[in-house]
Amino acid sequence: MTEHLNHFIGGASFEASDGRRINLVNPVTEQVYGSSAQGTTEDVDRAVAAAHRQLEGGAWSQLDGAQRGQLLSKLADLVERDTELLADMDANAIGRSPIEPRRMDLPNAIANLRAAAGWANQLEGRTIPTGGYFGTKTLSYTVREPVGVVGAIVPWNSPLMITVWKLAALLAAGCTVVIKPSEETPQSALHLAVLAQEAGFPDGVINVVTGYGNEVGRALCEHPLVAKISFTGSPEAGREIQRTAGVLFKRVALELGGKSPQIVFDDASFEDALRGCALGLFANQGQVCAAGSRILVHRSIADRFGAALADAAEAVNVGDPRQPGVQMGPVAKKAQFDRVNRYIQLGIDQGASLLAGGVSTPERGWFVRPTIFTNANNAMAIAQDEIFGPVGTLITFDSEEEAIALANDSSYGLAATVWTTDLVRAHRVAAAVKAGAVGINCWSPLDANLPWGGVKTSGIGREGGFAGAVAYTEEKVITVLLPS
Ligand code: NAD
Repeated sequence: MTEHLNHFIGGASFEASDGRRINLVNPVTEQVYGSSAQGTTEDVDRAVAAAHRQLEGGAWSQLDGAQRGQLLSKLADLVERDTELLADMDANAIGRSPIEPRRMDLPNAIANLRAAAGWANQLEGRTIPTGGYFGTKTLSYTVREPVGVVGAIVPWNSPLMITVWKLAALLAAGCTVVIKPSEETPQSALHLAVLAQEAGFPDGVINVVTGYGNEVGRALCEHPLVAKISFTGSPEAGREIQRTAGVLFKRVALELGGKSPQIVFDDASFEDALRGCALGLFANQGQVCAAGSRILVHRSIADRFGAALADAAEAVNVGDPRQPGVQMGPVAKKAQFDRVNRYIQLGIDQGASLLAGGVSTPERGWFVRPTIFTNANNAMAIAQDEIFGPVGTLITFDSEEEAIALANDSSYGLAATVWTTDLVRAHRVAAAVKAGAVGINCWSPLDANLPWGGVKTSGIGREGGFAGAVAYTEEKVITVLLPS
């Protein structure tokens, strides 16, 4: 089937203003299976104008929180109805097994929409006692207003779920949006916009402009009518966005990369830790921001744990994820394949030893063997850089203090996992680790009510939970003079 995807602006489908298109390539076969519109500055202008009209007296601006909540509930129902279709769209675009998005991304997205339906009616202001105004009493209160038009810039690894994290919260807050999906994965965002139209959202509230980051993404960041940029992606792009948006005083939320530690103590349940580390390394071919790619293991169990993890890696059946029995597909794109192999070679060159996997040279398709390094130290590139592939680096420690120091010796701080049966130690280590989220005996739990985001190079701001919706509002204070 050849897909011909266009922008979705103001409720209608549009080609790029200059007619250019981007090929969509299947990572299993390396064949072109369709194309999407290559958005231009003009396309962004049109989409932002549609979004802005809805805020300035449009039908959307007339709805109250309860009405916005009803629309979000309807959208949740429609996403649930189309779960298989949406999971297939995301899976096919990046060569992932559809089982993962069906079990993880879609339920999480639906839960986010349902939670946001409730938040929409709870964005309350405050009344604030004051000293009055030059001797006259006053009443001061605040209201929460939508921040405005949001530019939502999304990566390719979990396209629908990450789009919904932004969409659910910003719609609850009463904002409108121009979504820029990744150039590799525009399908599910476009379908989501169509579902929103079916749910009854006024045309122009949700717009999708497909295309490249340095064209569409940049135009959104520079657009004077875009009030906030909500970005998920690489630190390199995040840095550029922060720079551009900073000059224009735009609000910015940045969800960036990670190099998350999994700390395995000698008193951990061996089997649970092994399963959790394998999941954290190999889910979505390791293309997960919270991937637990640094395995810090107590020296007394390191050999046994490394051997078991290597067995788990070798046991992963890599191939076309649509075939029965296949657990891991290819990485999403050629650039990612080259990057992962480059890092594997770098690990070897810098003196780490392979326990499983290695550089991959498949005949066709961007398949990478699950790879585990040992005899590594935390200064190596494979321990410091986000590889974004199924590659784990095992590093040993002798004491809790050393484990914490290793965990924190990273420019990233997105997530961490602590594996131990000692509850006091678990909380002590969780408190000491510098990360936005710590799992104790579980890798990267996600929930619509939990905040998500990182410290250091992993980003600025949090998505998720009620505070995630509040982040799409501005607090305005109103003071009225009350002469007696
Ligand atoms: P990327 O930064 O290359 O692209 C992300 C999005 O930004 C794409 O839509 C891209 O077109 C756009 N973009 C790129 N350059 C831009 C620019 N200069 N201005 C505006 N937009 C631009 O990242 P990617 O390769 O798509 O995704 C992988 C990265 O995303 C990894 O670093 C991963 O850790 C991170 N990520 C983070 C989270 C999180 O929640 N913290 C979740 C998923 C992925």
